[in-house]
Amino acid sequence: MSPQAVEQDVRGLVDGLNFAQKVDRALSLIEQAHRAYGDRLVVANSLGKDSCVVWDLAKRVSPQIRGFIVTTRYKPRETKAFMRKMVSGYPELEVFENTEPIPDKLYETGPDRCCDILKVQPTRWAIEQMDVACWITGLRCTEGRTRTDFDEVEARDDDLVKLNPILIWHEREVWQYLAINQVPVNPLYAQGYRSLGCEPCTEISTGPNERAGRWIGTSKCGGECGIHTRPLKGDYQI
Ligand code: SF4
Repeated sequence: MSPQAVEQDVRGLVDGLNFAQKVDRALSLIEQAHRAYGDRLVVANSLGKDSCVVWDLAKRVSPQIRGFIVTTRYKPRETKAFMRKMVSGYPELEVFENTEPIPDKLYETGPDRCCDILKVQPTRWAIEQMDVACWITGLRCTEGRTRTDFDEVEARDDDLVKLNPILIWHEREVWQYLAINQVPVNPLYAQGYRSLGCEPCTEISTGPNERAGRWIGTSKCGGECGIHTRPLKGDYQI
């Protein structure tokens, strides 16, 4: 599967396909990737609602598909408990964490650096150690200002394809899928959170920007941790 093999101008499909058609499209993309990459197709599971959808879709394609979770010392207690539950149910999920010492409150003084050390670097380890050729993410182009410029199939790094099978889903359709298929989610959603990250950098938000509660008060507000924008293979600097 290559970026060229998939229609890249999909923005019209965000409102052009109905929910059932989007589920079929996502399953078809994962099936194609599974045929192309076999065991080297791996799901990045952030334990958020979108990852829960993608993980469930992947398991429908093949129960053998593996996944990885990147956790940090700052993840909320509820997220860590949810992670333990997921891993006990799916031993094919591997957890990666960077435990190296970092300056106190780096998330305030240098959030980009903090994310790079605690989130991007363990993602690189996962990709390398699990010999990943194609990784699946739950990224969606309707989530906020920084997520509009992605494709369903991307090749940002050499020898590494990224598949975003629910790119064109609305937030409502994510919840529709989770409810219809009775997929368990992080209990923090019941408190009103819409996008989950580390505790010091995540607040409850309302309004059209689903990620508006992330990194409030910093230049990163509503933005990205870096796993979708920084190099993951080859030459990179942290
Ligand atoms: S989300 Fe916040 S605490 Fe977590 S790695 Fe990024 S800056 Fe650090």
